[in-house]
Amino acid sequence: MMEEEPRRAPHPQQRAKQYHRIHLKLSLSRFALSLAILLSILLSGASISLRSAIQSLNSHPWLVVGGYGLVFYLLIELLFLPLSYYSGYVVEHRFRLSTQSRRAWLRERGKGIGLSFLLGLLMLEVFYGIIREYPRGWWLPVTGVFVFIFIILARLAPVVFLPIFFKLKELEGEELIRRLRELAERAGTKVRGIYQIDLSRKSKTVNAALAGWGKTRRLVLSDTLLQNFTPEETETVVAHELGHQVGHHIWKMMALQTITMGLSLFLCERGLRRTIPLFPFQGVDDVAGLPLVILMMSLLGLVFLPLMNAYSRHMERRADRFSLGNIESPEFFISAMDKLAELNLADKSPHPVVEFLFYSHPPISKRIREAERFMAS
Ligand SMILES: [Zn+2]
Repeated sequence: MMEEEPRRAPHPQQRAKQYHRIHLKLSLSRFALSLAILLSILLSGASISLRSAIQSLNSHPWLVVGGYGLVFYLLIELLFLPLSYYSGYVVEHRFRLSTQSRRAWLRERGKGIGLSFLLGLLMLEVFYGIIREYPRGWWLPVTGVFVFIFIILARLAPVVFLPIFFKLKELEGEELIRRLRELAERAGTKVRGIYQIDLSRKSKTVNAALAGWGKTRRLVLSDTLLQNFTPEETETVVAHELGHQVGHHIWKMMALQTITMGLSLFLCERGLRRTIPLFPFQGVDDVAGLPLVILMMSLLGLVFLPLMNAYSRHMERRADRFSLGNIESPEFFISAMDKLAELNLADKSPHPVVEFLFYSHPPISKRIREAERFMAS
């Protein structure tokens, strides 16, 4: 057992632990299921049959890749639908975190599937387009083009993608805006725009994020946060996000992602050279090998996940320290953290292995301890 948190009665934390145990099991099941599906599509010859069927309709390489991508994606979505429904709807309702009707959940899911299909299709066409040009050494141009796409998507996220799922409007409340403007001045930075999103239509959880870059950079707060947090507590959250902005964390994360993606694609290329000849594929540019590519990239992603999370936790600690240094009192930071844990059903002290592998933020118990240390110093 982990040591109990003295700050709260054990009951809400027991619920939080139960909630996270379920989600951990669901994530592991999802991973195991995806490996099983990919292997069976590959080993049964279904992948090659699918590609041949599409090729017999039209042999243009762009259309073969697109057609295969469409069928493959729909098949995977269909197979995962029960699991997605259980984790995204049933569990969220059981723990009273969701405010969505079943119909609204399905509509949302449909939008998500449509958008990820379009983006996935773009990446897939780029990937195989480059492989056809450079059957060897493709990993380098693919990395370059993917990074370029990610940078563009990050720029578009707050103005194109976020509005598909939420209504955005500029932050209201003179007192709060004045306070936040003063905070930004104190911190020696600018806030280009603070927006609120209607998260309450879907969930009782609270959230805040820094999105976009350049002209589209903005700070987004959920309406649930504004309803539940006092202006002083909201200020600590905004100060944390400003810490990310001042530390150029978006770019630093992008740089690390570029390195790990380049390395993964390089290793994937080497892996494919050895494994492609084991199957009756037409070559490395045969889209029937896609399950093999996804299999390799998922396993490599799993290897790099703890590294990415460790770096993310490091940046989160930095942003917390920036917040503590720029707010009125660390007490507001601590009460904001307590509220965050309560509303989001966060596990304040997860098992260290779970934290090491999966946590992009330090656990709330550690964030509070840092604030207490800051207060004492
Ligand atoms: Zn953060």
